[in-house]
Amino acid sequence: MTDLARPVPFRRLRPLRSLARSLVLTVLLSGCAAIGQMNIFSEEQELAMGAQFAAELEKELTFIDDPEVVGYIDRLGQSLARVSKRSHLTYRFHVVDTDDVNAFAVPGGYLYVNRGLIEAADSESELAGVLGHEIGHVVGKHSARQLSQQYGLSLLASMALGEEPGMLKQLTARIIATGALTRYSREMESEADSYGVQELYDAGIDPNGLATFFGKLEEMRGGRGSGALEMFFSTHPDPGDRANAVRSQIAALPAKPGLRADSPRFHEIQDRVKRGN
Ligand SMILES: [Zn+2]
Repeated sequence: MTDLARPVPFRRLRPLRSLARSLVLTVLLSGCAAIGQMNIFSEEQELAMGAQFAAELEKELTFIDDPEVVGYIDRLGQSLARVSKRSHLTYRFHVVDTDDVNAFAVPGGYLYVNRGLIEAADSESELAGVLGHEIGHVVGKHSARQLSQQYGLSLLASMALGEEPGMLKQLTARIIATGALTRYSREMESEADSYGVQELYDAGIDPNGLATFFGKLEEMRGGRGSGALEMFFSTHPDPGDRANAVRSQIAALPAKPGLRADSPRFHEIQDRVKRGN
């Protein structure tokens, strides 16, 4: 009997062995350029891998469980996820109790926003911009693509040689240990920005929030409290360039009156978070 509650992400790779053989050959023949867009994981495998990674991660993190704060972040996040290109997934939003100005996504729809980021944002649309960007990583299947790029050939070769599941289990452990699931290429960061802009626009939120938040990060860099920003810059390069790219994308969108830039509720929640209750 299959224990569906236990995530065993690669179990179902076995029938793919012959496909793997032909894929190895295709990739070897077509060279590295093909690998960047390649995704060898099915959605089911991506979700199982995400669930496993999220469970590991959540052992290490401290969360804010104030229902007012969590409820607000969830409503804001769901309003963006609902209009995203992968709206059929279940999105789970968590608030991590740390000063670091950062947010991150785990494959399959697990999203984490740090207290430091809620405190650093000036408006609801800035916070929404970052949430939209992180949802954009899920929409772009960036972790699955990144892993396909980093480990694709060894995974496929292992499948072709019939070495799974032992090797795949080891590989999953290594992937989790190195945090490779949340480190993305520059192209993927831009793609996530682009998805984020569209999500905000479609949800009726002013997408300029993402651009102004990048501007703020540039200002904060090197100033007081820049230590908390280190993490963001190690995972999110070049905010200046990205702000410009975001502004160009917004300029090309049809004018839409009534986009919401801010809300009183955001500031109530921000005060609550700052007071620590
Ligand atoms: Zn990112």
